[in-house]
Amino acid sequence: MAAEESVGYNAAVESFRDNEYPMLQGSVYLDHAGTTPYSKSLMDRFAHDMTAHLFGNPHSASSSSQLSTSRIEDVRLRVLQFFNADPNEFDIVFVANATAGIKLVAEALRAIPDGFDYAYHQSSHTSLVGVREEARNSVCLDDQQVATWLAGDSPLGHAGRPTLFAYPAQSNMDGRRRPLSWASQLRRSTNSGRTKIYTLLDAAALVSSSPLDLRCPETAPDFVVLSFYKIFGFPDLGALLVRREAEDAFNSRRYFGGGTVDMVVCTKEQWHAPKAQFLHERLEDGTLPIHNILALDAALDVHQQLFGSMAKVAAHTSFLSQRLHDGLRSLRHGNGDAVCTIYSPDPTVCSGPIVAFNIRNSLGAWISLGEVEKLATLKNFHIRTGGVCNPGGIASALGLEPWEMKRNFSSGFRCATENDIMAGKPTGVIRASLGAMSTISDVDRFIDFVREFYVEKCLPRTNVQPVRDEGHADMRIHGIHVYPIKSCGGFEVARGVDWEVRAEGLAWDREWCLVHRGSSQVLSQKRYPQMSLIRPYLDFQHGELVVRYVGPISGNVSREIRVPLSQNPKVFQPHASASRPSRVCGEDIQAQAYASPEINNFFTNALGVACVLARFPPGGHGKSMRHAKAHLQKHQLLAVRNRATIPGAFPGPPSPPDSDSEIDRPILLSNESPILAISLASVDALNEEIRRNGAKEVSPAVFRANVVVSGSPEPYVEDGWTGLRIGRHNFRMLGACRRCHMVCINQETAEKSEEPFVSLSRTRRFEGKVFFGTHMCYCPEGGGISRDVQFPTIRVGDAVHPS
Ligand SMILES: *Cc1c(COP(=O)(O)O)cnc(C)c1O
Repeated sequence: MAAEESVGYNAAVESFRDNEYPMLQGSVYLDHAGTTPYSKSLMDRFAHDMTAHLFGNPHSASSSSQLSTSRIEDVRLRVLQFFNADPNEFDIVFVANATAGIKLVAEALRAIPDGFDYAYHQSSHTSLVGVREEARNSVCLDDQQVATWLAGDSPLGHAGRPTLFAYPAQSNMDGRRRPLSWASQLRRSTNSGRTKIYTLLDAAALVSSSPLDLRCPETAPDFVVLSFYKIFGFPDLGALLVRREAEDAFNSRRYFGGGTVDMVVCTKEQWHAPKAQFLHERLEDGTLPIHNILALDAALDVHQQLFGSMAKVAAHTSFLSQRLHDGLRSLRHGNGDAVCTIYSPDPTVCSGPIVAFNIRNSLGAWISLGEVEKLATLKNFHIRTGGVCNPGGIASALGLEPWEMKRNFSSGFRCATENDIMAGKPTGVIRASLGAMSTISDVDRFIDFVREFYVEKCLPRTNVQPVRDEGHADMRIHGIHVYPIKSCGGFEVARGVDWEVRAEGLAWDREWCLVHRGSSQVLSQKRYPQMSLIRPYLDFQHGELVVRYVGPISGNVSREIRVPLSQNPKVFQPHASASRPSRVCGEDIQAQAYASPEINNFFTNALGVACVLARFPPGGHGKSMRHAKAHLQKHQLLAVRNRATIPGAFPGPPSPPDSDSEIDRPILLSNESPILAISLASVDALNEEIRRNGAKEVSPAVFRANVVVSGSPEPYVEDGWTGLRIGRHNFRMLGACRRCHMVCINQETAEKSEEPFVSLSRTRRFEGKVFFGTHMCYCPEGGGISRDVQFPTIRVGDAVHPS
């Protein structure tokens, strides 16, 4: 629609809005993908129809019954015509809503003796996704995979079973449309000869603001589902349109209800004869929703009278959605950064009048959806936020991996809860969707709302943007390691990878442990050196912790096990049987023990000790959480006092070193503190000492540090650090790390030697205790919340500055 034309349409809507849609007064309704408000004319027309005529249950010869029957038949025809569908080619089955139509198809195909295979598009509504539970095999396809299929390569193999392919004509999440031609392309595709492929088009979102043209039965999908309340607001009714060619899909359906059979024999014999003339007669169980169907008659009339045609509605809403899209996209913070991250395609690309987006502050942090919704509600905007019943669409828009979604679920995230930014990512979207009676002023008011509350004109003075220091620095991060399973091998973070830092330490560090079946003690390398030969690998692509055992093993047992990163409650032993606390470092803890014998046997076989794998995830309470014990040692206080003379230290007033030793810092299963750092210069100095004693040098790996710092001007200057700035973030030192004989275990071979403990005892003993390396924790930046604060990370190569 040209702008002038839309302005004309807009003026018309504005003028009848007060009469027709009194409930819209003072509010901006932007949730048409949910439902459409109903008009007063429609309700009046319906009320008149209901009070002027007597409508009976269409099952007898009475005039009231006959009236219902004939009116319902008329409505069937009108609905088919509304979609340009020839009644000789299509039948319409009335259902409660789109979902009920989907279930009817799934139920029928499930009853086929060998069942059916199912492929559904990634941007499917939950109601389509659920069909997979009824199918023998199912796959979720993105656009590329659909294209491959259309080219003849079936994603489901060639089991010979009927296959159902379902997709949304328009995504209810971001408005993106998919070609209607897929149905006919699939029918023509080379492989379809042997197996029957049915196509189910979910038109629920599309038809609310666009025409759907089923003029050509050859190219049309076999099944189309929709909900009328999304087009007209009223009645609460849906339809399943079935291409007559595909009616055979329902031949195996077993259930029959009142109204769907010509004869039923019950006593002695069990026999029935389904109605045969029309498909809808067989599928519409029980009394029809008579009054809803009649209301549809009124709805079709009134809609046409108010809006002309669906084509006009489509043109108007696409004009508005372009305006909304452009308006939101143009909003900038004072620093020039975009305010909205928009997931919907530009309306010039094939898409419906939906704009899905999220908002960031000027420092790049995501604004909580719950907060936006609360404010919008106060200001009388009707929008939808969250996962909008579109799991695949949300996951791909937000880049959420399955394990992340399950992790979010495990850490308390549920559909429609407040906790909506997790691990630095939003868990849903803000969705504004336009409809027939939306106006230019609705759009402008919404853009103004976002501008007023979320655009930050000038930056708050306290918010100096932390910059990743990649420039000149002598000291840098040389290596980052996490030890997913306490006391087992380390996982080296690759160069270029940003690794999350949390209050508890580096992400995934010491989140699992092995627990002795008898004593409930958490196993340690000190007693079981071969634990170093158990090598965990974090495979984010598959969402798994892959654990390999590289040591000697007897018998034909597996060398590798895969443990899901997500915390599916099903994988753990029921709480009752796992309720005996485990002990780590003399402390009672409550960890979640795995139930899988396969997983537990793997570790038991590797170590020759009866044990189970247990998880101790962040965010626990009571015995499911621990606190750091590290503190600055006396020898360090001296070093801090002398820090002016310490090379490599920045001058400046040192903060009182133990002022916050009382603060409870959460940790997972590490012994003492969130993060352990060592300096290569100190390792070198120690190795020199070891060489002097005629022994073999040790690898830095024996210290099992998380962060290895290189470029330190002298060994052991770390004793005098009170804090570090690494990359963009600040860390506070929590004291030197006291060492035991565990440093004598070669982490490659699990062999024990005397060094480095002997040399450490000679050079690094203070008050009778031996120290090497330094504990530290992450200190969030004060001031405004930035993207870095929402998701702090470090990486190899980051500059390190003592402070
Ligand atoms: C609304 C919607 C549905 C579900 O409709 P119901 O009326 O709840 O059955 C399914 N798919 C899409 C694309 C939708 O927008």
